[in-house]
Amino acid sequence: MSIWADVLTLGTEVAAHAPIIPADGVVPVLDHLRANGEASRAELAEATRLGRSVLMQRIETLLKSGLLAEDRVGVSTGGRAPRLLRFRADAGHLLVADLGATSTDVALADLSGGILAHHQEPSEIAAGPEAVLGRVEELFDECLAEVGAPPASVWAIGIGVPGPVEFASGRPVSPPIMPGWDGYAVRERFADRGVPVWVDNDVNVMALGELTAGSGRGVDDFVYVKIGTGIGAGIVVDGRIHRGAKGSAGDVGHIHVQAGREVTCRCGMSGCLEAFAGGAALARDAEAAAREGRSPILRALLDTKGFLTAEDVATASKHGDPVSVELITEAGRLIGQMLTGIVNFFNPSLIVIGGGVAGAGDLLLATVRQTIYRRSLPLATRDLTVLRSVLDDRAGVIGAATMAANELFAPAFLPRWLGAGTPAGHA
Ligand SMILES: [Zn+2]
Repeated sequence: MSIWADVLTLGTEVAAHAPIIPADGVVPVLDHLRANGEASRAELAEATRLGRSVLMQRIETLLKSGLLAEDRVGVSTGGRAPRLLRFRADAGHLLVADLGATSTDVALADLSGGILAHHQEPSEIAAGPEAVLGRVEELFDECLAEVGAPPASVWAIGIGVPGPVEFASGRPVSPPIMPGWDGYAVRERFADRGVPVWVDNDVNVMALGELTAGSGRGVDDFVYVKIGTGIGAGIVVDGRIHRGAKGSAGDVGHIHVQAGREVTCRCGMSGCLEAFAGGAALARDAEAAAREGRSPILRALLDTKGFLTAEDVATASKHGDPVSVELITEAGRLIGQMLTGIVNFFNPSLIVIGGGVAGAGDLLLATVRQTIYRRSLPLATRDLTVLRSVLDDRAGVIGAATMAANELFAPAFLPRWLGAGTPAGHA
């Protein structure tokens, strides 16, 4: 087992032979440049409020470590044009995976979350961790080969999984749709790569992706809602993911809604949003309508394929199938009902709707939006925007890369490896 797996599992101090570099000053400088791309020394002094000699020392440390470069000249504001410092996103690579209920996305990213190689394929999370993560390992190697990146250039691994995760240990906790994954040591599974591994719930990871590169850029308080097989939300407060006391914040699929009928959810309770409005619920109701002869289009699709999906319902609704229109409208109304509670409670300025079902058409989004505006308090919706994700299936991998980079450069972690050059060098 690598040093990093030990460290991350046991929380012990690491690599006694590496010099410990103080985080004070280093992290603010890095944070500013990671967020803004480049800046002059004067701009950094203003942004970080560090004293001149401390700032110069920290910049020197970061230049020596290879995390910063100084190869551009800015615009003069009077005297000599300033040299600009920039964050070197190409200093290392991140391997990331976004595991959904029925798909796997794997990518190689730079240290800013820029995607350099990306593979997506259908998969079954229920096949268990050995099968799924074994395939992720193969795809990791394919991504590295595609870009021609040596394994030693990898600095960290970020993984999103479709269930609750105890972030501190990286282990899934009683995930309802992930048989065999409860308590599984995902981090240790990648120990051979010798780099730190971070694992989080996939919806949190997608919300981070939206914050970094999607509709959430520059927005401090927003909610990302994924409508896939199930329904979940990632909550961004003050520009950071809010995980809650035990990491289950945003589990909105099991909020009780008024649907006018009783359906038992996979969690065992009755009346959960997901049991009416998730992708699996839409597919179930569509198949029932097809079998009962209520929709000729769905019947034809079912006869051809042998099963139906939420995407089929969206397609049929676009062709004017009344049953499909009704199913999607009802799903939108119930999702809107849940979000009304969130809006009144949390007062976000933005709600981003993503996931496979959300991408299927405008009707769902329009109904969600209409329900929220009709039912929320006027002050809560005054500046509220409801948008569909523009990142689609890249939100997860971009977010997983952002998560890994944020943790690598966090005050609690950076000092442990900065003196050694790279986090990978120790393995
Ligand atoms: Zn439930």
